Amino acid sequence: ESSVECPLDRQELGRSTWNFLHTMAAYYPDNPSQQQQNDMASFVKIFSKFYPCEDCASHLRERLQTHPPDTSNRYSFCQWMCHMHNEVNRRLGKKEFDCSKVDERWLDGWKDGSCD
Ligand code: FAD
Repeated sequence: ESSVECPLDRQELGRSTWNFLHTMAAYYPDNPSQQQQNDMASFVKIFSKFYPCEDCASHLRERLQTHPPDTSNRYSFCQWMCHMHNEVNRRLGKKEFDCSKVDERWLDGWKDGSCD
């Protein structure tokens, strides 16, 4: 294992970013204020203008036109994020993720205790 730290490639950037986005969704409030709902919707929109992979960002901006973020509560936002990630997975030929498992993956750990 090398100790040299290098700029991120598209895959590393993607993994780090999904870690952040799904974890942020997992901790989004169950009962967000109108302000929080508006702010999170703005965050996603602005994120799509600056995500530092132009290819990825332009796909994302296109998808947001037809699938705007559902920021009405924690559950809905986590599901929206999961479906958005699955759309990218499909496009890249990766396996789809079972969106009923987002809380185990990103919040509570797996039911078999493997994350405890
Ligand atoms: P990742 O896709 O990075 O996933 C990380 C982990 O998230 C997985 O191991 C799994 O445990 C979990 N996971 C997987 N799917 C879901 C889901 N649906 N919901 C919840 N958790 C899930 N790359 C390109 O080449 N072209 C693109 O156009 C492109 N667009 C992107 C757009 C965005 C907004 C982001 C954040 C990334 C994009 N990427 C794109 C990068 C790509 O999605 C992957 O991050 C990268 O290919 C590395 O993939 P990976 O197999 O390590 O797992």
